[in-house]
Amino acid sequence: MRVLVINSGSSSLKYQVRDTTSNQVGANGLIERIGEGAGGPADHGEAMDQVEAELEGVLAGKPLDAVGHRVVHGGERFGEPVLINNEITRAIERLNPLAPLHNPANVLGIRAITAKWPELPQVAVFDTAFHRTLPEHAWRYAVPDSLYRQYGIRRYGFHGTSHEFVTGRAAELLGIPLEQFNAVVAHLGNGVSLTAIQGGASVDTSMGFTPLEGLVMGTRSGDLDPSILIYLQRQGLSADEIDTMLNRESGLKALAGNNDMRAIVDAAEAGDQRAQTALAVTSYRLAKYIGGYHVAVGGAQALVFTAGIGENSSVFRAQVVGRLGALGLKLDVEANRLRSGSPRVISAPDSAIPVLVVPTDEERAIAEATAAVVNSIHG
Ligand code: ADP
Repeated sequence: MRVLVINSGSSSLKYQVRDTTSNQVGANGLIERIGEGAGGPADHGEAMDQVEAELEGVLAGKPLDAVGHRVVHGGERFGEPVLINNEITRAIERLNPLAPLHNPANVLGIRAITAKWPELPQVAVFDTAFHRTLPEHAWRYAVPDSLYRQYGIRRYGFHGTSHEFVTGRAAELLGIPLEQFNAVVAHLGNGVSLTAIQGGASVDTSMGFTPLEGLVMGTRSGDLDPSILIYLQRQGLSADEIDTMLNRESGLKALAGNNDMRAIVDAAEAGDQRAQTALAVTSYRLAKYIGGYHVAVGGAQALVFTAGIGENSSVFRAQVVGRLGALGLKLDVEANRLRSGSPRVISAPDSAIPVLVVPTDEERAIAEATAAVVNSIHG
């Protein structure tokens, strides 16, 4: 099946054409500065015209069978990818308050495709869906129930498409049936999240009501004492200023001066104190969470690293695993250093459980999920 994968942001639109049978990428691109004037596309409709023009040659021989959309928030309703119709689009729109930067843009992408190719089946693949299996004791905050009932304040979790894909790959690599697989999966990119996997399902995850909760990220703070926000507000900072500070000016960027893990590792190795502290804070917080999730799943059978940092930074992986001696985890120095695009084991033979690197591929996962939904309807 030939699937167009769309990741629609407020001012940008990423796309990929994938053949789900051969797993070939037919084309990919990025349209930027949507609605910003200066000759860019005026809206998502025009951006889609541009995608169509760029795909002209690619689509000439073989037309599209379906479109798969990355949708950030599926709320409590969506635990699986769904075929989009008007009612589904409106349901995604109703979740806008929970993801004000993302869901409105996802809806614009869906509507632009509907206008352009009304006959083409479209599927929504949600970032939150994989975490719909969280038990209540993991998703509930200890706050008055009215916050949950009135505002939907609970933990949702994100990066689900990646966590699900990587979990499946890891189980396959180890030869463990997915329904019996317990693991801790660390998605370490610009956004960072950890998921506790029990019986192949997500039972806890570090991002919560928004993608701000949890671990130290590229530019996000992760966990902090919520009183700090109240304190800052009383000092005269506005809600928007605090929002920007915690989402865009914190994390590695605040600790080390930039959010590029390569540069931070290089600086730390050259003796830069701030870079060393940044690595220590980040790896310490992550190791602490991994220990917690090992308990949450009743003993993990593997620790899995993925995404930009997880797949590429042997130094950061070594720092994290170095803090997990109490769990009996031990890396194989050579295997950890080896660069490869394949799923692999990087732990020593006498490590208590295997440590894996499994490259993620969210576009592939979205394309395959889209094909599965469309096939189930035609089949
Ligand atoms: P995004 O969340 O934007 O998709 P990525 O998964 O691409 O992010 O991860 C980005 C992070 O991965 C950055 O911190 C970047 O420095 C880091 N990274 C990418 N390649 C390497 C590498 N070779 N060594 C260390 N870090 C890397």
